[in-house]
Amino acid sequence: MKLEAKVYIVGAGPGDPDLITVKGLKVLNSADTIIYADSLVNPDLMTDVKQTATIVKSAGMALEEIVDLMEQEVKEGKSVVRLHTGDPAIYGAILEQMSHLYRRGIQYEIIPGVSSVFASAAAAGVELTVPDLTQTVILTRAEGRTAMPEREKLKDLASHHCTVCLFLSATLIKKVVKEFYEAGWEENAPVVVVYRASWPDQKIIHTTLAKLHEDMRANGVTKQAMVIISKAVDQKLLKEGKYESKLYDKTFTHGYRKGVTSGK
Ligand code: SAH
Repeated sequence: MKLEAKVYIVGAGPGDPDLITVKGLKVLNSADTIIYADSLVNPDLMTDVKQTATIVKSAGMALEEIVDLMEQEVKEGKSVVRLHTGDPAIYGAILEQMSHLYRRGIQYEIIPGVSSVFASAAAAGVELTVPDLTQTVILTRAEGRTAMPEREKLKDLASHHCTVCLFLSATLIKKVVKEFYEAGWEENAPVVVVYRASWPDQKIIHTTLAKLHEDMRANGVTKQAMVIISKAVDQKLLKEGKYESKLYDKTFTHGYRKGVTSGK
């Protein structure tokens, strides 16, 4: 693939190297320079990169250093790939990079990736939006060193009783549980935790709000975990077979199919 002299911000996916997009992989394998967060991006993704590619690990680098390197490479006519874990738009800290690039007049393009939230849902075998149960998904985090905006306190978000997916929150679980109780959730509310979704050491923990902290501790999960709190992750839904959508209901007419009258 012929790349331009610019920065490609690429979603690497959640871990499994097969979960990068086809376009992301093509760009990666054609890049002159690759910058990636070695703490989270699977190094196996580098298997088929150009032999001449410069590979730089960004974990120990400051923002300015990263942007300086990007600028230098692009000015030499090189293509630069900045690999981000999951999808770059979610907690990717890409705005600050884009802003520097924009102000320096350097072109960039974003290529999306599979977010860990979706890899986690897949691993746990759940649908996050179940008809009649919940039709809304909130992607958020617990308040830690990064303060939450006043109108996005977990308790307020939890008060919608929809699916809530928590990034970056594994060490703040006691606080999470407390806020959900304050928002009126029951002790036996279903929760699924996925540790390192799509990696070989992935763990899936089906639990409840009341047992969440204990079960995470017992499994040694203190980081790289997705916590999904939702009626939709209840394992008994599979057995029950309720909550079918209108889309495939034979009595429901839509653009692609005329419904039949029920009872006939
Ligand atoms: N942009 C990433 C999120 C980066 S923030 C994405 O779209 O997935 C880092 C947080 O993402 C972690 O604290 C954890 O909550 C979650 N995360 C990243 N990779 C994960 C994985 N493989 N399994 C479960 N959670 C993961």
